[in-house]
Amino acid sequence: MCLEQTSRPFDRLNRRQLLAGLVSGAALAGTSACVGTNAASGRDSFTGFQTIQDDIAEGRKNHPKILQSFGGAYDDARVAGYVGKIGLALAKQTEYQQYPYQFTILNTQIVNAFALPGGYVYITRGLLTLASSEAELAGVLSHELAHVTARHGAERHTAQQVAQLGLLLGALGLRAAGLPSDLMQVGQTVALAAITGYSREQELEADTLGIRYMSRAGYNADAMASFLGSLRAHSQVEAQVLGLPPGTVDEFNIMSTHPRTVERVRQAQRAAARETEGRAGRWAADAYLNKIDGMMFGDDPEQGVVRGQTFIHPVLRFEFEAPPGFHLRNSPSRVQGRHPSGAEMIFDMAPSNGAVTAIDYLRHVWAAKTRLHNVESLVVDGRDAATGWVEGRGQNGAVRLRALAIRRDSEKFYRFMYMTPTDQTQRWAEPFRQSGRSFRHISAATAAGVLAKRLLVVTARPDDNIAGLARTLPYGRFNEDWFRVLNDLAPDQAIKPKQRLKVVAE
Ligand SMILES: [Zn+2]
Repeated sequence: MCLEQTSRPFDRLNRRQLLAGLVSGAALAGTSACVGTNAASGRDSFTGFQTIQDDIAEGRKNHPKILQSFGGAYDDARVAGYVGKIGLALAKQTEYQQYPYQFTILNTQIVNAFALPGGYVYITRGLLTLASSEAELAGVLSHELAHVTARHGAERHTAQQVAQLGLLLGALGLRAAGLPSDLMQVGQTVALAAITGYSREQELEADTLGIRYMSRAGYNADAMASFLGSLRAHSQVEAQVLGLPPGTVDEFNIMSTHPRTVERVRQAQRAAARETEGRAGRWAADAYLNKIDGMMFGDDPEQGVVRGQTFIHPVLRFEFEAPPGFHLRNSPSRVQGRHPSGAEMIFDMAPSNGAVTAIDYLRHVWAAKTRLHNVESLVVDGRDAATGWVEGRGQNGAVRLRALAIRRDSEKFYRFMYMTPTDQTQRWAEPFRQSGRSFRHISAATAAGVLAKRLLVVTARPDDNIAGLARTLPYGRFNEDWFRVLNDLAPDQAIKPKQRLKVVAE
């Protein structure tokens, strides 16, 4: 959670690049106002009245929002330089040189990659730790570059964006309709809307073009499908860790923002066979592992970390406990928790909007226009707080939402929202109460003891086994499953002598 992240000013477009964009955009716009032949996809594409300079302007406008919504840029010049170099080499292979291509590593353990129109390509720290070779990284970057060059962002219809926004709200497990909208408001939907909304056809096109670009740059195109396999395996283990039903992914996951299957990637590979003919291409696995050795793994303490049932934020200096059996997960905008029974929780922070007391905030800001029951004032960790509940309709029937607001300072409130199917209200009443009341300030010494975990690349020794090597991962009983995903090991596959393996250092 990093709500107080200040976005960095964006000023990387130079005059020459801007002019190049303007000139080519004007030329393209001259051929037709609405439909033009795309030089990458080779098909007529409807891009509205959006020109290439519009693409660049749109990307530039949204770039700071993306940084703010996804934990900022990962501050590691060595890895950033490496990704940027590979990205630019791939961009050279595209049909559009007018875009001021730039590549950003986002500082989040979420596994995703996406692009904004105009040449802005993003890849998360979490995705980098999952990939195992330069070719796999190149496959991801090429796919994103293809969304830029095929101008999929400009093709997107407004209606589709609206539909996606609905889906994002639905991803919380609750339908937006029928629920008190003020209570369900979450901060980052605008930035997320900018990165979602590709159709399956656009995904296939991005794979076909992406395979073209990576092959031209000398990479083995098999890496596109192999890494998609890793991404799927990761999504499965992540769903288990989060207590989500099998086959579901949360809204931040790459499988949600880029709906693809291995079969479709193979189809794209066949379609691009001309490009790859006679060339195996390189994987560059060792070079890649050398670069990611030492990268941060999991939550960045700057944004708060999940340690078992506890969420600790060493910068904002607080911690709280989730109810028993909940799986907590940190994301840039909030901390989410789930219980296999369907109960959920969301923790975040929001501006007070002028409310002086917690009761005032709950009644007139957070839950304005909502019928709150049993509103009561209380003190949590010496702070002014207020709670109340409301009924709503979730995907699977009636739900009860308990809201708890705790004053942080004159500007902000901490907020807990606990949700349970109505028939489980009694069961969760006390655990929810205890979780909310566990919110407490932490000392400077406790805060200083919260350290980031690191990914290390080691060479397997004869006496190594998976249980021992996976011990330091932060996923409890799913550590071994996670370790296998991280190291491309099938469920029954043993480690080979001298195999290079990713482990996590505490
Ligand atoms: Zn895609």
